[in-house]
Amino acid sequence: MVEDLKDNLFEIPEDLLDNIAHNIENIIRTFDVPEANKMEVIRQINYMYTRTKYLSLTDELTGLPNRRCFDNEFNKEFLRAQRYKNNLTLVMFDIDYFKNVNDTYGHQCGDYILQQVAKAALQTFRQTDTVYRVGGEEFMVILTETSIEQSLIPLERFRKTIETLDLKFNSQNINITVSIGACQWTSDIQSKEEFIKKADAALYQAKKSGRNKTVLSTDL
Ligand code: GH3
Ligand code: MG
Ligand code: MG
Repeated sequence: MVEDLKDNLFEIPEDLLDNIAHNIENIIRTFDVPEANKMEVIRQINYMYTRTKYLSLTDELTGLPNRRCFDNEFNKEFLRAQRYKNNLTLVMFDIDYFKNVNDTYGHQCGDYILQQVAKAALQTFRQTDTVYRVGGEEFMVILTETSIEQSLIPLERFRKTIETLDLKFNSQNINITVSIGACQWTSDIQSKEEFIKKADAALYQAKKSGRNKTVLSTDL
């Protein structure tokens, strides 16, 4: 069991974390923890568990939810859309020529830019629209209750915000842009993978047609 856990350290599913919480409760019940200490032991274990769960779902650099968190949440939203046919738009965005930023200004500057982009995304999108950092300079946004037409306004607002972001690193002004691809769920999309592929194809088109653009899958 320990070996299994070690092997899968980077793919701990959420229900396993919930199992861990359940096991901890069993341990406390089974072992003879003195009554006077019980509440404190539970409090400390709860704290450790909550903290571990938070870390497993959070990107350390930006504080955004990470890829694992995206997979969990996207799964739920996808099933919800399939069942209730509500509007769900999936967005992928990627910083343009980010390798150049690292090469020109250094990796630390790249990290700073990633943090500022994350901050701008959090400020631009609604609280119900969750932004995830899913890779190096790649992000996903799940726009719930939003059609592809409705997504264009916040996406363009975000793209322009990044374009005009006042970024300074070691007193150097830095300008960056992002390319954005978006796709709305429709009943012909059978799997999550297919849905992601369609958003990715829109992003690819935004890159191919010059970058600093928003492309909707309906334009493809
Ligand atoms: P494109 O416009 O086609 O997206 O070009 P690009 O240069 O952004 O894309 P590419 O995939 O060639 O480079 C991505 C770069 O992102 C390479 C890598 O150094 C950088 N990167 C990925 N993760 C991090 C990170 O955590 N910190 C920093 N500073 N850089 C990162
Ligand atoms: Mg890039
Ligand atoms: Mg990339």
